[in-house]
Amino acid sequence: MYAVQAQRAGGPEVLEYVEVDDPTPGEGEVLVDVKATGINFIDTYRRSGVYPMQFPHIPGTEGAGVVSQVGEGVTSVQVGDRVAWHDAFGSYAQKVAVKADMLVPVPEDIDFDTAAAILLQGLTAHYLVTGSHRIEPGQTALVHAAAGGVGLLLTQLITHMGGTVIGTVSTEEKAQLAREAGAQHVFLYGEGVDIAQTVRDLTDGEGVHVVYDGVGKDTFDASLDSLRVRGSLVVFGGASGQVPPFDVQRLNSAGGVFLSRPSLQWFVRTPEELRERSEDLFTGLKEGWLKFRVGATFPLEEAADAHRALEGRKTTGKVVLKA
Ligand code: NDP
Repeated sequence: MYAVQAQRAGGPEVLEYVEVDDPTPGEGEVLVDVKATGINFIDTYRRSGVYPMQFPHIPGTEGAGVVSQVGEGVTSVQVGDRVAWHDAFGSYAQKVAVKADMLVPVPEDIDFDTAAAILLQGLTAHYLVTGSHRIEPGQTALVHAAAGGVGLLLTQLITHMGGTVIGTVSTEEKAQLAREAGAQHVFLYGEGVDIAQTVRDLTDGEGVHVVYDGVGKDTFDASLDSLRVRGSLVVFGGASGQVPPFDVQRLNSAGGVFLSRPSLQWFVRTPEELRERSEDLFTGLKEGWLKFRVGATFPLEEAADAHRALEGRKTTGKVVLKA
């Protein structure tokens, strides 16, 4: 088969399209013919050496395709099944071996590009609003980077659950995207903007029930100050850098608030949980209240160009590779 390999740690140029042996599915695994691969920022950290990896390696963990072979002991899927996954290394390839437990069935009416693209960010948005802090009707949430991949999905899910979204973004163009996703109030959080005061002005001085913060270092203090008494701060990423260590007493002075720092792995602990969350997302797409747009598609052999576009902030929405 053909695959993209990161030959060594470095820039996008280290990604080469090469012929390699087909993977062999081990016990509990299946071989999948990959139709589409989702690109995530973490792939670039692994390629560049920010996250330690062995080289050469085939990047990517997310995709969708058709099962072509099942390994020993697999009973949950069959050859010919349409499937998607978010956690199988080596997904920038024509074929990949995936643990059968990590597969979700893809309904006929969901195309492979969408299935490959929505899973990781969609599952993240899903656990954030159901597991980290469950949105109740009437609650108000502050969503940072509301026009980002996770941000747009979060905004739609919160709105669908009866919550109100206050979104922050960096540009007017992104503000428009966040509003289209359902955010009731959107403001630009650039230099000199008092985020917490703006949030208090929008909430009769009370603050929000929950802040979903994937920006991290730059927004953490303002997020804490934007909460109402007994509110929740969910820090799920550090797009601006990781939050430095801090004094837990601040949770008390902020109003007895709750802080969590979750990641997806803790919210898809069983195949059942993974499938339930995925089904909710696919149902949302089918019913039309959840919209998801693939921002750009590149042929698999042009993975280096896809990384260049992503790192150059030239893309909006999700980037997908087509095998
Ligand atoms: P996004 O599409 O949201 O991109 C990140 C956004 O963060 C940018 O578009 C930008 O929006 C904003 N941002 C603010 N400051 C910076 C900065 N200094 N550099 C870059 N971006 C900045 O990415 P994703 O939706 O893929 O991911 C969002 C966050 O969620 C990331 O931190 C990611 O690591 C995290 N994540 C966490 C998971 C988990 O389970 N914990 C799983 C998946 C993702 P703007 O221009 O509007 O400021």
